[in-house]
Amino acid sequence: MTTISMLINGEPQQASSGATFERRNPLDGSVATIAPAATPADAVAGVEAAAHAFKSWGQTGPGERRALLLKAAHALESKAQAFAEAMAAEIGASGLWAGFNVHLAASMLQEAAAMTTQISGEVIPSDVPGSLAMGLRQPAGVVLGIAPWNAPIILGVRAIATPLACGNTVVLKGSELCPATHGLIIEVLQEAGFPKGVVNFVTNAPADAGAVVEAMIAHPAVRRVNFTGSTHVGKIIAGTCAKYLKPAVLELGGKAPLVVLDDADIDAAVNAAVFGAFANSGQICMSTERIVVDNKIADDFVARLAARAQGLPLGDPRKGPVVLGSVVDMATVHRCNALIDDALAKGARLVCGGRADSTLMPATLLDHVTPAMRIYGEETFGPVKGIVRVNGVEEAVACANDNEFGLSAAVFGGDIARAMQVAQRIESGICHVNGPTVHDEAQMPFGGVKGSGIGRFGGKAGMAEFTDLRWITVQTTPRHYPF
Ligand code: NAD
Repeated sequence: MTTISMLINGEPQQASSGATFERRNPLDGSVATIAPAATPADAVAGVEAAAHAFKSWGQTGPGERRALLLKAAHALESKAQAFAEAMAAEIGASGLWAGFNVHLAASMLQEAAAMTTQISGEVIPSDVPGSLAMGLRQPAGVVLGIAPWNAPIILGVRAIATPLACGNTVVLKGSELCPATHGLIIEVLQEAGFPKGVVNFVTNAPADAGAVVEAMIAHPAVRRVNFTGSTHVGKIIAGTCAKYLKPAVLELGGKAPLVVLDDADIDAAVNAAVFGAFANSGQICMSTERIVVDNKIADDFVARLAARAQGLPLGDPRKGPVVLGSVVDMATVHRCNALIDDALAKGARLVCGGRADSTLMPATLLDHVTPAMRIYGEETFGPVKGIVRVNGVEEAVACANDNEFGLSAAVFGGDIARAMQVAQRIESGICHVNGPTVHDEAQMPFGGVKGSGIGRFGGKAGMAEFTDLRWITVQTTPRHYPF
């Protein structure tokens, strides 16, 4: 069991009320973490520390920020074991998933370090004689980052790395489901030596989330909000940001289609589908949630896919290497069981797996899914995925787009030009031709359309989100005025 603190102005802090909350292990119910339950006033103290620190941090040169971000990347990698233990204890994640989280999060810190010298502006031709006109990017101020539990290191780091690289100060609001894992990120940044107040960390009891988040968004020093989580909560955050006129980057839910055209390399598509559907037990925003396969090859594809899915090792991640660890909670089990029951009652065929009675859920595939079934449209966020059979390209595109979400997608096809045309017609922020729906790299413009959110993390697109673009002029000759 781990007891953690918040971090306000460089100091470990408990809640001013003394209140705490527990996170329990999803498999055996043992207490994994005890964390401070911040009051709204505690959270505001974090914002005020960040606002104070911004006065000097916002003036630092790129070299200083780059050096600290690179130190943080090294510190993060050196804590790989502690991160894996925290993730297994708090969310039941496999060692494989924890390792990928450490690797990509370190890469995000390195990329943010590299971007510190790329915050460039432009000189814009002016019609006013002698006016030198520029578009300059400046740090925005305090950035509030709100991260979820499912890819805790990646998404916790993503919420703050680019903002810090741009010269902003940050408050990370940790997830109630993995406060110790998010706390380790803060330890890493402390070890790297970020000045006090530049990075602040707030944890809250689940029931207090709304009040704590609104108190921070309302604070005038908070100039950007980023939120990764469900579409349901994303809409609440968007409403709060609208109320206080704060720009928000929202990275929300997904229902990624993997389209298998009739000329696809079937083994390549099967490998991508198994990986995309069942990595981290299907609890990834980019998870392959809908497999859309052409009828001409569907029987062969489904048989090969089932053989692979059935062989995936499942078990308690604390006892050894597995692909499918524990899902995050029994709510996931109940949600997925209900989706299975609904689909089977409406004529779907169970290909492998099935209902679960614990958080150790098997890889489950349902074939002949139709729009009448809930699993056709709803995010399962578990290892239960549907297969929809279609006839030809037009039906495949229509099916891929027949959804509220639009984060990631994939198209498999031998005729690359045709597959690329399909990719361009899919309504999603991300689409991979002959690659899996689960694919993230620090330098890529990551984000969704439709119900999957607004804005982009990563690379230059991320820089644009967390800086203010200002128009600055210098009048270099006497200016002519009309009166
Ligand atoms: P969630 O939306 O339930 O919770 C996320 C955060 O919302 C928590 O920090 C919580 O404190 C906060 N919250 C809850 N109620 C709130 C309220 N009323 N006001 C303000 N804040 C509130 O999400 P989750 O279950 O942690 O994560 C899973 C979801 O996240 C899935 O839908 C998944 O697809 C999505 N996700 C998206 C991405 C992406 O990049 N697009 C990445 C990972 C996960």
